[in-house]
Amino acid sequence: MQRTFAIIKPDAVAKGVAGRILSKIEENGFKVVAMKMMHMTDAQARGFYQVHRERPFFGSLVAFMTQGPSIVMALEGDNAIARWRELMGATDPAKAAAGTIRKEFASSIEANAVHGSDAPDTAAFEIPYFFSALEITAR
Ligand code: ATP
Ligand code: MG
Repeated sequence: MQRTFAIIKPDAVAKGVAGRILSKIEENGFKVVAMKMMHMTDAQARGFYQVHRERPFFGSLVAFMTQGPSIVMALEGDNAIARWRELMGATDPAKAAAGTIRKEFASSIEANAVHGSDAPDTAAFEIPYFFSALEITAR
């Protein structure tokens, strides 16, 4: 079992497709072990995407992530990190494979509907960035 961190980003929440994305998550066998809706502050978004702080799109990315509410989640399952990245599809929806969430719901390389941790160390930073131990369902 592995855990990963996921976001239904503000573009997808605003478009009203959060429920359809959550259905795909469940249909693909992920267990949602934590979930909440939040409207990220500038400081929260900057801290979350700190690895991208030198990139030219950083300011725009922070503005996008703070434009409205998003839904943050911790997902659990076998090989959850890689499987969730696969279900999300490529960063740029123009390059995303058929059947992926970004192919179906993303509008652009920036407004791309979902986030997923890209490695175990990333998940280990991202899950506790948004959730306390008490907010994660115990088994
Ligand atoms: P995420 O980290 O959100 O799961 P990712 O790992 O597929 O996405 P990253 O390279 O980590 O992609 O980029 C983080 C986010 O920054 C992207 O999801 C997208 O919202 C935004 N982004 C990435 N590249 C660009 C770009 N060239 N122009 C604008 N925004 C971008
Ligand atoms: Mg990334």
